[in-house]
Amino acid sequence: MATIEERYQHLEKTIRGYNISADFKQIRAAFEYAREHHGSQLRRDGTPYITHPLNVAQIIAEMRLDSESIIASLLHDCIEDTDSTYDDIAKKFGVTVADIVDGVTKLTRVHYTTMEEEQMENLRKMLFAMSKDIRVILIKIADRLHNMRTMEYQTPEKQRKKAFETMEIYAPIAHRLGMQKIKWELEDLSLKYLDPVGYEEITSALAKRSSEHQAFMDRVQEEIVAKLDELKIENTVYGRIKHPYSIYRKMYAQDKTIDEVYDLFAFRVLVNTVADCYNVLGVIHDLYKPVIGRFKDYIATPKPNMYQSLHTTVIGDEGIPFEVQIRTYDMHAIAEYGVAAHWKYKQGAQREDKEHTYEWIRRLLENQEDADAEDFIHNLKVDMFSDEVFVFTPRGDVTNLPAGATPIDFAYSVHSAVGNSMVGAKVNGRMVGFDYQLRNGDIVEILTSKNAKGPSRDWMTIAKSSEARSKIRQWFKKERRDENIANGRSAFEAELRHAGIPMSKAVAPEVLEKVLKPTNFNTLDDLYAAIGYGGYTAQKAVHRVREEVAAQSRAERAAAEAARQAAEKEQQKAEEQKAERKSRTKSEKGIIVEGLDNCLVKFAKCCTPVPGDDIVGFITRGYGVSVHRTDCPNASPERQKEEPGRWIRVSWGSDIRESYVTSLEVVCKDRSNLLVDISTALSTSKVGVAGLNVHTTSDGFAIFDLSINVTDRAQLDAVVTKLHNISSVIKVTRSVG
Ligand code: MN
Repeated sequence: MATIEERYQHLEKTIRGYNISADFKQIRAAFEYAREHHGSQLRRDGTPYITHPLNVAQIIAEMRLDSESIIASLLHDCIEDTDSTYDDIAKKFGVTVADIVDGVTKLTRVHYTTMEEEQMENLRKMLFAMSKDIRVILIKIADRLHNMRTMEYQTPEKQRKKAFETMEIYAPIAHRLGMQKIKWELEDLSLKYLDPVGYEEITSALAKRSSEHQAFMDRVQEEIVAKLDELKIENTVYGRIKHPYSIYRKMYAQDKTIDEVYDLFAFRVLVNTVADCYNVLGVIHDLYKPVIGRFKDYIATPKPNMYQSLHTTVIGDEGIPFEVQIRTYDMHAIAEYGVAAHWKYKQGAQREDKEHTYEWIRRLLENQEDADAEDFIHNLKVDMFSDEVFVFTPRGDVTNLPAGATPIDFAYSVHSAVGNSMVGAKVNGRMVGFDYQLRNGDIVEILTSKNAKGPSRDWMTIAKSSEARSKIRQWFKKERRDENIANGRSAFEAELRHAGIPMSKAVAPEVLEKVLKPTNFNTLDDLYAAIGYGGYTAQKAVHRVREEVAAQSRAERAAAEAARQAAEKEQQKAEEQKAERKSRTKSEKGIIVEGLDNCLVKFAKCCTPVPGDDIVGFITRGYGVSVHRTDCPNASPERQKEEPGRWIRVSWGSDIRESYVTSLEVVCKDRSNLLVDISTALSTSKVGVAGLNVHTTSDGFAIFDLSINVTDRAQLDAVVTKLHNISSVIKVTRSVG
């Protein structure tokens, strides 16, 4: 077994392999610091504790991360498990390193007790919200990976608990960050403890046939390499058996034995250029029979986690199917280490780039494949989940609340009964004030009592969520109705006296009805109650009464006056209309028909003209003039010659309508998300969609018939250009006939 010093030398060698100018002095210092502080602590397997941080640093180095990450990973358990402090680490290794170590420590202190599916997504988000620096998450994943690798020395109970957590929280995070290799290892190690029998079944079956498998993989590899060498395509080819957990999932999801699991084998072909990728694909499909419907082009359309590759499944000579993944070396680095590879590229870059990295992660997390430009810019400015805070119930359930939320918000989010009977709150076991601002990862416990007096009015200003506030308001409305009515009534009466209005006059039915009508109150008691709980003021109510009393006496006179004015207006309008009819020579549709006054006009359905188009009119039998575009086949010169007397010159007037319906035909190569892209183009152009029909052809085309509302030709042209710019759109034409 290697000595501690040998392991450290191995770490340094790994780092030197990708970063010759790493800060080896500080890395050594961090190693010595951790060794000294962990002192004689032992791991469960009996090795000195320092082997753990060393191994975590080794994993981080294999991800090729920067010096600060290596230093922080060596120190990652110091704050939690030794007498070392944040300040001490900051003094010796800088604030950035101390912040990362502190971040990892906070994540370590989060304890998950829930097993509920719907909680998992919140837990994952919480981890991100708590890690202000992505390196915190990467070190936490490396920490978990090493702990899972050495899990055999733990109690069965702890093994299952950690395996569950890893499967549900850490493996999905690794996946989202694009870290394929680590995700697989986490899944396999988890499976080993979650279903030992199933794991054993798969690994022993694979082991039994391993020489057979190896012979098959060697043969295929040789065939591919020989062909590519012959074509002078520089390549690296290797085969692997799919990892146990992915086989396990297929076996159980499809209820199959290991022999029946489709494509147990995967081959990888790494080449230099994207062009070579497609060349290799052709070669593979030439060598082996491709399985229809299994080809996927993640180069043209990368996965949300930036994964790029060509995937195809083929059947070899022996009738054994296998998958082939084809990608460039750069794509491969991203596939294996995901965000870590990305981080490496960004190393030493400027701040903006760092923010860009966060943005990229944020989008990954939310899986916003179709985020539009405005959202994108908005998201650039905010931190990850900075508008939310994630806290635990004592049972271990995660609740998310708006940032700045207090125990009051938490209590009402559990249930209004909990909020209404709250007498105190504990956070992480300590009593706190009702205005305490909750922080990510806090465990919140609400103390309730049957004798609680209910919420107080200032809770309304302390609560951050509208949910809590409306529940508090609700309580005041209901629980104290009698008291509210009495208080409201006396306030109302006092205000009336002040205004010099007798009560009898104020509550006379014709006045009261008018006072209540514009509000939500059905009865006088409702009004009193609202005044009582503060939802309405007595001043406001009396003001209305006063207005209404005055209005009643004026009412008749005002009504007579209004009637007279209305009649006058009516007459004036009629005269105006008459004058207008005389002076204008165009129809209401914005079309001027030469020589004809005020005739019926309709737009031809075949070519749907819009303002700006060259147009011509056709006098129909029975329905006035039909307007065509001059380039409509139905208005061709030949047609016009047939019935010369019925064609008439028309032009666009100045009083065009707000919008005109017109039709477009869009021909595209079919692909996923096409409909989304087209709808987005239409909505960003601000055109209304009156109809949308799509049909696909057997040879892979999609044809959209769009019916849209536009104001004029300029807007229509803009829409056409926008549609043209969508990838895989081949042709956009205005429909005719
Ligand atoms: Mn650790």
